[in-house]
Amino acid sequence: MPKIRREKYDRRAGLPARLIGMGAIVIVVLLVGIGLWKTHESAQRLNGKLYTHRPRRIMGTESTIYAVADARRKAEEIHDVLMEVEEVLRSVESKMSVWLQDSEISRLNAAQEGEWIQLSHETTAVLLRAREAYYDTNGAFDITCSPLVEVWKRAGRQGVLPEKEEIESARNASSWDDFEFRDNRVKKHSDRARVDLGGIAKGSAIDRAIAVLQRHGCIGGLVDIGGDLRCFGTPPVGEGWDVEIRNPFSEGVLKKIQVVNSAVCTSGNYARFSIIDGLRYSHIIDPRTGMPAENIPSVTVIAEDAVSADIRATALSVTGKEGIEHLPRGIEALFVTGTEENYSVITTPGFQYVLAE
Ligand code: AMP
Ligand code: MG
Repeated sequence: MPKIRREKYDRRAGLPARLIGMGAIVIVVLLVGIGLWKTHESAQRLNGKLYTHRPRRIMGTESTIYAVADARRKAEEIHDVLMEVEEVLRSVESKMSVWLQDSEISRLNAAQEGEWIQLSHETTAVLLRAREAYYDTNGAFDITCSPLVEVWKRAGRQGVLPEKEEIESARNASSWDDFEFRDNRVKKHSDRARVDLGGIAKGSAIDRAIAVLQRHGCIGGLVDIGGDLRCFGTPPVGEGWDVEIRNPFSEGVLKKIQVVNSAVCTSGNYARFSIIDGLRYSHIIDPRTGMPAENIPSVTVIAEDAVSADIRATALSVTGKEGIEHLPRGIEALFVTGTEENYSVITTPGFQYVLAE
């Protein structure tokens, strides 16, 4: 194992800046689970005061919002900011969830061929970003593979593998050619065309939440939805935000990293999968074959923004570590491959800069 340098990773600065002493670990955010604060709200440095808010379930998971504000600001004011962040997260969920029947995405999925559906600017922007990602990832990230996602979800519930014809039919049912955009309206060219924003909605919600904190003058912050997160600034104590990457095979910690001005998202089949005939099938589908992605236990991606990290983590779960070669600059990844008994950790060279130990 090469000796790992302890360096602060600041994407905005472009180059990793050397750490001036690690100081105490300030914040530990489990990639699945609830963040553990090792300091409390009165911790202060550079006049920064830390506020925490844990909203009730959003997008089917736990989330935590951390805001660092100038200590001279009124606590009530920051409380209002945290409430506004929660509202933004809930509004993304209400527009983009496939689980909510009256969401914009559900309306689009239910629409008939040729019917123009009016969408909000936010939802349209996410759809267009997802379409761009389809081309950027050579088809590995494809939100139009929703019919396949549904086929495999049902197979998991029933414990029966789908027929070849069923997979083929779902694969042909929906593609980007079936969607036409005009301003904030979308028209489908086929009734069966559908999208599933499960691989991008959290990232989008996190980015919007961070924008709220910044707009209200917070000097730092971190938004974590179910282990996917983005941070900016620094916590009141410490040089960066400490994040723990979960071991996909146990409740334990695999690696600790420290990040500044970055997003960290994890995908893989460790948390969500189905068992059919004793075999584990990922909830992530390879749109090119129609089959669940081959068992990558977990992929953690660091990018400048959460949408990029979210997209790439899902895409790399499809391509496996071969996908590293095609990553654009500024995206780092850590793969856990193999099995519990015999696994290995593979990273892009840049990921080494964030490893805390
Ligand atoms: P994530 O946990 O961010 O990797 O997202 C996984 C979710 O994205 C799945 O539960 C599906 O809803 C959806 N999904 C599955 N396969 C793909 C894919 N190849 N491209 C885009 N979204 C996908
Ligand atoms: Mg994703």
